[in-house]
Amino acid sequence: MLDTPQPARAGTLYIVATPIGNLRDLSLRALDILKSVDLIAAEDTRTSQGLLAAHGIHARLVALHEHNEAAVAARIVADLRAGKSAAYISDAGTPGISDPGAKLVGAARAGQVPIVPIPGASAVAAALSVSGLDGPWLFVGFLPARASARRKALDDLRPLPCALVFYEAPHRIEECVADLLARLGGERRLLIARELTKRFEQIHQCTLADAPAWLAADDDHRRGEFVLVVSAPAAVESDDEREARQVLEILLEELPVRQAAQLAARITGGRKNTLYDLALNMKQEP
Ligand code: SAM
Repeated sequence: MLDTPQPARAGTLYIVATPIGNLRDLSLRALDILKSVDLIAAEDTRTSQGLLAAHGIHARLVALHEHNEAAVAARIVADLRAGKSAAYISDAGTPGISDPGAKLVGAARAGQVPIVPIPGASAVAAALSVSGLDGPWLFVGFLPARASARRKALDDLRPLPCALVFYEAPHRIEECVADLLARLGGERRLLIARELTKRFEQIHQCTLADAPAWLAADDDHRRGEFVLVVSAPAAVESDDEREARQVLEILLEELPVRQAAQLAARITGGRKNTLYDLALNMKQEP
């Protein structure tokens, strides 16, 4: 299988991941497809020309970016329905991930054209693979550029019981990290993955509280492309736990632990032993 190229099939749209820096991160399958399709749609044809030339690919290129995606998608789908094959590549990484591609895929699906993913590099996957996290995570992508909208978005994200993954550009990295700290608190851990797969790749982990000082310590720390991974909050209280805590807070002002727990169990319907343990802990909290 490895030495048998798998060329593009007629009438099929291929969504092809390309490198996020290191030009050697292009899969053998991506090469097979890019070498054999009738046309390659690219977010920026000049950017992609370098990659394609480096791999000896000289296909027909069509520009498809966020400003012309719907119109160009319709033309490509017509070509596909006429039996041509096509690939879409964005400037870097996987199309459709904070990149154009969704409208083309939507138009192809509506036109009943087969769509085949050719997976490969993506900054979000690369950063997560070295994060050491093993729980659930939410890919947010770019936060809104406007400060008020960004802060509102972070307030909505704060209680979610999962890690959060952001993309950020160098000119907004300090502002973004300052808002992460202000809105998510200083205790959560932040992985800063900078210039992945490139010459100056850097992966740094610290608390959100320490992140602004790390960024300020060296001009290079603020250069290049960033993925930010914020760990999940330590523990998220359920509605039942919050109610139990509120009831116990009042009862413990007047009653010893055992009685407060018994009464709280009758009020909330919770388990006596669980409430007893919680009450004990609350008594010991500073
Ligand atoms: N589609 C791409 C992907 O699959 O990762 C993302 C495209 S998005 C327009 C560009 C953003 O991705 C950058 O601003 C940065 O946040 C992140 N990114 C792309 N390449 C990166 C790299 N080599 N290192 C770190 N982050 C990168």
